[in-house]
Amino acid sequence: MKKIAVLGSTGSIGTQTLEVARQNGDLEIVSLAAGSNIEKLEEQIREFHPRLAAVWSEPAAKELRQRVGDLDVKVVTGMEGLVEVCTHPQAEIVVTAIVGMIGIIPTIEAMKAGKDIALANKETLVTAGHMIILLAKETGVKILPVDSEHSAIFQCLQGEDRAELTKILLTASGGPFRGKKRGELKDIRVEDALKHPNWAMGRKITIDSSTLVNKGLEMMEAKWLFGVEPKDIQIVIQPKSIIHSMVEFADGAVMAQLGTPDMKLPIQYALYYPKRRFLPGERLDFWRLKEITFEKPDLETFQGLKLAFDAAAAGGTMPTVYNAANERAVSKFLDRKIAYLEIPEIIRACMEIHVVTANPTVEQILETEQAVYEFIESRW
Ligand code: NDP
Repeated sequence: MKKIAVLGSTGSIGTQTLEVARQNGDLEIVSLAAGSNIEKLEEQIREFHPRLAAVWSEPAAKELRQRVGDLDVKVVTGMEGLVEVCTHPQAEIVVTAIVGMIGIIPTIEAMKAGKDIALANKETLVTAGHMIILLAKETGVKILPVDSEHSAIFQCLQGEDRAELTKILLTASGGPFRGKKRGELKDIRVEDALKHPNWAMGRKITIDSSTLVNKGLEMMEAKWLFGVEPKDIQIVIQPKSIIHSMVEFADGAVMAQLGTPDMKLPIQYALYYPKRRFLPGERLDFWRLKEITFEKPDLETFQGLKLAFDAAAAGGTMPTVYNAANERAVSKFLDRKIAYLEIPEIIRACMEIHVVTANPTVEQILETEQAVYEFIESRW
């Protein structure tokens, strides 16, 4: 039985990870961590019997301890709790399905403890990619991408020589506002932006998909995972999300991974790599599909994507500024405190005043994040 730890078990990726475990029956869940959804975490503890569970706050932990008092499970809290969950002595692989930069420290500690990482938490690579990739080399742990695009690229590269990879073609659905011009996005409401055409995901990533900031974050994630310069990552809009991404090799050959949009496939692939397992679900029917169409992204309307390339070019702490500014702006938009088009404006304003620190440490990354939050709170 492969033993896994799940950070962010109550979220979209977390619950699908547990569904994969349920369907296969041969994955043992040794530890779980969630933020504040005690009810769902209790259900998960009762079904999967982990020995260790973490929640963020002490009051939440107190309530959870009462609820699961009849079970043999230790409940821990805060950052220390997250680290305990992902360095659990029995865990072989940690699924980082937590949202935000809070994932950096637990991921680093898990790697130092020799755990393989099934990485969904893209913020970790975007902001601390230089450290994570180095640490993976030093410790020999595997980083297995869970993001569907990166899993697709990873699958296309199996058995290939990385030196012959010339280009990554990162596909994007274009989100619910594909084809619209900037002026038409002025009055977008939270409900409109939460309607993704193809994928059911957490709220933050759904907004990021609508602004194409998600694609910007994925571009930076791909840069670190596959050692490719941003200029060699081309964003291709493919509205039906059938092609999950492609790679081009030195001889001009292009390889793609296709499938119906289902996150359980990349999750399962990461958990059983290099083996493929049966996964129930709809298969692609090319007779019914008839065509797959492609478009160029509109960087004038979706300025968040253009800013991602600027942040990647500046390097150092700038991707942290991009990510933190977006995180806070999206949260304000979801709380209906700012307008939709203010999201890229806030990112731009934060990037404009930032002085880059090259090769930042974790402390410098977290200080940068804090400085961005303070700047945003002082202005919006
Ligand atoms: P969700 O918002 O659905 O879930 C986030 C998870 O993180 C929840 O379990 C939440 O717990 C937990 N969490 C939040 N804050 C804390 C905290 N302080 N301590 C412990 N746990 C915490 O997000 P998604 O599943 O959509 O996304 C997770 C990550 O995966 C993100 O980085 C996203 O970019 C990435 N990703 C997601 C994809 C998707 O299809 N959803 C696809 C590719 C990547 P609780 O709910 O209990 O508060």
